[in-house]
Amino acid sequence: PLRAASRLAIVTGGIGGIGTEICLRLADAGRQVIAVDLATRGERIEAFLEQVSPYRGAIRFEPCDVSDFKACSGLIEHIERSIGHPDILVNAAGITRDTSLRKMDPQHWHDLMRVNLDGVFNMCRQVVEGMTSRSFGRIVNLSSVNGQTGQFGQTNYSAAKAGVHGFSMALARETARKGVTVNTVSPGYCDTPMVAAVPHEIRQQIIADIPVGRLGTPSDIARAVIFLTADDASYITGANLPVNGGYFMS
Ligand code: NAD
Repeated sequence: PLRAASRLAIVTGGIGGIGTEICLRLADAGRQVIAVDLATRGERIEAFLEQVSPYRGAIRFEPCDVSDFKACSGLIEHIERSIGHPDILVNAAGITRDTSLRKMDPQHWHDLMRVNLDGVFNMCRQVVEGMTSRSFGRIVNLSSVNGQTGQFGQTNYSAAKAGVHGFSMALARETARKGVTVNTVSPGYCDTPMVAAVPHEIRQQIIADIPVGRLGTPSDIARAVIFLTADDASYITGANLPVNGGYFMS
């Protein structure tokens, strides 16, 4: 059974490379965790449940497509009814649809916006009212270094990730007096399935440009997220925490 006293965290993209690590570290910090991801990820869901089984029910899985507003609303109703009120929301669901603008069709653009930007709105919209009424909330949205620098072939992704930061700053202002913080974490390049598709030479080039000399790990990112979800991280809001090995300094 879930521990009633511990805070409840929702992690979208929760079975992904970074999402899984965030779920594990939140559970280590005593949180009850709900990993939210697409129902269609059958084998990966199985593998995730296997990986989190030592946590004995502290981490569960709920299917939801974050790009679907109604589905998000149904998800939060279900969670509030059967588990409890969310105190922490980490939006880590994300996709890439890389291609130069010349070749980008509206589908590439809209599919990405629906997950990477609408998904953040959809989930925040569902939880913010409850969090402010209970005077506690921690929201962390995953942005990206590419939202700060722009990236070739990623006009859609860079726009969405810059948008996530703008969204988070605005929401931070709306909720600051009500005990709710809203921040972004901007990973650099991390060794996850998302980056596995990058061709070898480009990967080597990226590593050469990272002062720390290696790609990031999901654990590097999760640590930054966990820091921002702490009860006593109450004076950090509207911030963007870059976790990129020095790849981009501002
Ligand atoms: P990942 O592909 O391993 O995980 C993303 C997860 O999101 C997947 O499990 C996927 O099924 C889920 N997802 C996709 N569409 C969804 C939807 N509509 N509804 C619910 N879930 C959905 O990627 P990752 O590397 O773990 O990335 C996590 C976050 O960090 C993303 O927002 C990504 O943009 C960001 N990021 C990653 C990197 C990197 O180098 N890996 C760099 C910068 C930012």
